Amino acid sequence: MLRKRAIYLLCLLMAVGLVFPQSETSVETTKLSETLYHFKVTTLFPVNTLASIGPNGILLVDPGMEQSYAGLMKALAEISDQKVTTVINTHTHDHHISMNKQLGNTAKIYSHAASTDLMKSGLDVLVEWSPESFPTYKIDSDTSLYFNGEEIQLIPVPGGHCGDDMMVYFTGSKVACTGGVLKAGSYPMVDYARGGDFRGFPKTARAALNHFSEDVKFIQSHGKMFSYTEGEEYVTRLEKSIPLIKKTFAQEKDLKKMVAAEPLKNLLPGVPDYPNQNYWIRTIYTGLALENNGVKKSLTEPLYHALQSGPATEMVTVYKVIKQSNKDIYGFNETVLNLLGYYLINKNRLADAIIVLKLNAREYPKSFNVYDSLGEAYMHKGNRWLAKRNYKKSLKIYPGNENGKAMLEKLNSDT
Ligand SMILES: [Zn+2]
Ligand SMILES: [Zn+2]
Repeated sequence: MLRKRAIYLLCLLMAVGLVFPQSETSVETTKLSETLYHFKVTTLFPVNTLASIGPNGILLVDPGMEQSYAGLMKALAEISDQKVTTVINTHTHDHHISMNKQLGNTAKIYSHAASTDLMKSGLDVLVEWSPESFPTYKIDSDTSLYFNGEEIQLIPVPGGHCGDDMMVYFTGSKVACTGGVLKAGSYPMVDYARGGDFRGFPKTARAALNHFSEDVKFIQSHGKMFSYTEGEEYVTRLEKSIPLIKKTFAQEKDLKKMVAAEPLKNLLPGVPDYPNQNYWIRTIYTGLALENNGVKKSLTEPLYHALQSGPATEMVTVYKVIKQSNKDIYGFNETVLNLLGYYLINKNRLADAIIVLKLNAREYPKSFNVYDSLGEAYMHKGNRWLAKRNYKKSLKIYPGNENGKAMLEKLNSDT
């Protein structure tokens, strides 16, 4: 299933190299100061990149996806013929930094001290980072660089969005890049598997805000630029929301009932769709549940390694052994096998992909998405009959699966 996916799943699929090959990149450029530019770069969905351009060359904060490389380079070339010499990552979610693969050969990369380990573990193993993608400089305390005539501060604030969050402040231009830590007009996104925690908010967000004066402009990873006042509203909303959700958790302990109770109903209006208040309730619920169980180990890693050394049948054996002996230690869910299936489709190991996706369908037979993915693997393999059969199964479970409908129509119309 590819179309109309939630951004989260889309990001994961991009991590395994599965995006529309024909995806176009569009770039909107805004000049912020004598040397500083903001690029809103859209390939499938928009991400923000900042560039300092001047006599020292080009410095990029969060260069973005590797698929956006040609589009971003074209936009930079319209401003300067200088090369990118320096890259700073606010954190290492791949859709913000997979362009490190293209830039890392010639540019120095600054990232939080925890980034390298995070890039080598969990779902990131599917990204298969090249050696030049990793940070040259690992930042674990406040650090300053001097570039194109201004001091640039690197300020680590890990533990909210991810385990390697870092803000970047251009002191002369009075512009701060706050990644996923400090935002406006939404609720936070927390990546528990990569060291994020709702408890890290609002502490990190408040500390982040306190670092700046009221005339600073802010850029978040996604979405519009925002003011200090909007940042303040965001932090206040976080500070008020967490006790309200915790109180509801103490009474209900059930996610559906928690959402139905609308604990944030009266809390500062004007929050857009995503991440919305229900997402935030789910996030905190997950975090509170983890308090009892702890973060599970990544199942992706052992399965990925099994796929490097042999056929998918061996991976199935590894899966079964782990399920038998360590079921509670590892995080079992349909996404893991689904992504491994797409990883194999992308490597053109179609027979192996089908084995993995069939296992997923056996494990999670009530999920429409497992059949949708299996249908896609059969389609790539040229087995139209089984492709159709699986798309039909998917639609039987969830008639609203637009992707399944479209693919079935395509399969029926192709001769
Ligand atoms: Zn992120
Ligand atoms: Zn992001």
